[in-house]
Amino acid sequence: MNVSDILTTWYQDNKRDLPWRKVHDPYLIWISEIILQQTRIAQGMDYYLRFVERFPDIYSLAEAPEDEVLRYWQGLGYYSRARNLHEAARTLAKQFGGKFPTEYEAIRSLKGIGDYTAAAITSLAWDLPYPVVDGNVFRVLSRLFALDTPIDTGKGKKIYTELAASIMPKSDTGLHNQAIMEFGALQCIPQNPDCKHCPLQAQCLGYATGTPQAYPVKQNKTKTRNRYFHYLNIIYKSKTWLNRRSGKDIWKGLYEFPLIETASPADFADLQQTEAFHHLLSDAGELQISLEISNLKHVLTHQILYASFYKVEINEPIASLQQYIEVPIDSLDRYAVPRLIQLYLEKTGEK
Ligand code: SF4
Repeated sequence: MNVSDILTTWYQDNKRDLPWRKVHDPYLIWISEIILQQTRIAQGMDYYLRFVERFPDIYSLAEAPEDEVLRYWQGLGYYSRARNLHEAARTLAKQFGGKFPTEYEAIRSLKGIGDYTAAAITSLAWDLPYPVVDGNVFRVLSRLFALDTPIDTGKGKKIYTELAASIMPKSDTGLHNQAIMEFGALQCIPQNPDCKHCPLQAQCLGYATGTPQAYPVKQNKTKTRNRYFHYLNIIYKSKTWLNRRSGKDIWKGLYEFPLIETASPADFADLQQTEAFHHLLSDAGELQISLEISNLKHVLTHQILYASFYKVEINEPIASLQQYIEVPIDSLDRYAVPRLIQLYLEKTGEK
């Protein structure tokens, strides 16, 4: 048996029973793939089921307001992916009659669809011959062939994509792609791969080296930066104020309390000295400020946020709040917020 036959035989015996595996609808495959790019299967399943119940097809997603799409995405992170899904659905509705085109290049041209997702959709929906190369596939291939080309380089991506294509069968490419991804997720796992019971052990060069966990190799040049966020939950007569994030930074389109960001750690005395604090609260007259959460660490890809939350009670409306959205506190759950804000609301019992 060749590698693909071994993988697909293993898959038939070991695969998990997941709802998106039973369908050939490219829309449902697309949604499941995008959700699973950012979460574990157990959590992703709930999101997937809720999402496709509310947005069962391209038109229902295309016609929904962006705020609602983001609310269904809330907690998954990488909100740009939700916005891209929405934009691509609109393109499909307008330019493709509400259907997925069957050509790889046309699918690849949609917003937020890269090589991996285009290959997954075309192979799983129509058995077209495009290999998927995700983290699981990188790991399986790098071990199987004991390849030490770093996977996070242009050269690495090219080599691995060619290798993935070279072991792909001529038919049933969807089955093959699902098999190799599932094999990476369950058998050839990052730590402690189950080599002892592995059907590919005899041909695995990584196993032959004695240290299969050393693969894949990464160059890893990306640096992480620290950011310091200070949120002001400003309260007046059961109302608070929110800002809708825009621009190229994180969380575009999501809502948050008025934010002051500092370049280094800052306590309340430091915060009072900032221009932003003056701008926001210098007209406030009498106010009561309490620190509710200090230095909450929140890790994102390439960024670590340290967030403090202050509750600021004011006695009269202030002009500087006009740039924000006035929200009754008991309506906060109608707004899509980042996980960090959600944590604050949960901790303080406001949600
Ligand atoms: S022998 Fe081990 S390292 Fe090689 S494919 Fe199997 S599980 Fe992965």
